[in-house]
Amino acid sequence: PLAGVPQAPKDPMFGLSAAYRADTDPKKVDLGVGAYRDNNAKPWVMPVVKKADEILRQTPDLNHEYLPIAGLNEYLSASQQLVFGEDSPILKDHRVATMQTISGTGALHLGARFLHKFFPESEAKRVYVSSPPYVNHLPILHDARLETGFYPYYTPTTKSLDFENLLSTLETIPRNSIVLLHACAHNPTGVDPTQSQWRQIASVMRERHHLPFFDSAYQGFASGDLDADAWAIRHFASLDFPALLVAQSYAKNFGLYGERTGCLHVVTQEAELAGRIGSQMEKLQRVNISTPPAYGARIASTILNSPALFAEWQSDLKTMSGRIVEMRKALRSLLENGKGGEGKWKHLTEQTGMFCYTGLDPEQVRQLREQWHVYLTGDGRVSVSGLNWGNVRYVAEAFGGVTGK
Ligand code: PMP
Repeated sequence: PLAGVPQAPKDPMFGLSAAYRADTDPKKVDLGVGAYRDNNAKPWVMPVVKKADEILRQTPDLNHEYLPIAGLNEYLSASQQLVFGEDSPILKDHRVATMQTISGTGALHLGARFLHKFFPESEAKRVYVSSPPYVNHLPILHDARLETGFYPYYTPTTKSLDFENLLSTLETIPRNSIVLLHACAHNPTGVDPTQSQWRQIASVMRERHHLPFFDSAYQGFASGDLDADAWAIRHFASLDFPALLVAQSYAKNFGLYGERTGCLHVVTQEAELAGRIGSQMEKLQRVNISTPPAYGARIASTILNSPALFAEWQSDLKTMSGRIVEMRKALRSLLENGKGGEGKWKHLTEQTGMFCYTGLDPEQVRQLREQWHVYLTGDGRVSVSGLNWGNVRYVAEAFGGVTGK
């Protein structure tokens, strides 16, 4: 009965890293990688994560029992504080239902399933995502059987936010639409709204009764400042939307990629409703993963709940974000200096986070791969963390080579 199963296309991201691994040229550079790399192009276990790991290993009686369906209690409350701020009225009033999830992807998926099940039938039930979208947003939403649409986000000519069109789209899509927003460090473009632009986005969305669904995959990793990177979410939260969702990932900011550590938060206007929502999310969780994985949540919880470790974490975050900022500057100045191209590559330093939209076209990306052994995705997105002091000059030479600058 299964003989007709067609071959599915390879995931483009995983295909890119396979091509990189198969390349035997010693000069090869991986700018596709979706994870932080240190200055030696190696994965980095954060020192504070190593410490938490040691503490856990030395904890007597630690066992492998199931966690509760919603997840590890002290992890859930610490995660709420991290997203909404310790003094948030949302926490004081118990107006948020939180579930531990399979990292950010699981949080997005649980949120999408929850919305599909409970968003009123009378509404369009359409989720609007940025154009261009994060590569997995549409597949996740479609898997949960939600309809989707786009809001304009990026202007290729200026390599910056398409703010006017973004705002006017939010004004014209049907009321009660669901809008998926990147909390910071937009993937793939690296372009974020300013605080004043966020205020306008929030006010239009409030007026039009749209439901904000934040994807927060880079808190603390984007700017090195956990509060600054949560600013947009906290601003929206302060406006008391009837409902607001946050998919939170600890993959990047703790380097816990493979441990699949995240949370979904659903904020409402009253505690009693939050309780009912929590009970329904537990039902969805039970059939999907039954209970969440323990190890990453224990690591995160150990750090989040210890003031000393929390401070160390902040300094580790600065190490990562600082190195990324340094590499953005280095690549820009190598490309511009002495070549009469002042300002031509300013988007490299204006964008934030791990990803950067270079503006290189698919043909240039192909040449980079075939002639220079430099690997990036076809849309010209560079993972800045693939750059280091050992390869940035070579990459600048390669970019200069394919752009004729
Ligand atoms: N959203 C965005 C925007 C991302 O960049 C990522 C990671 N690449 C995720 C969600 C989810 O990642 P994870 O499931 O590993 O937390």
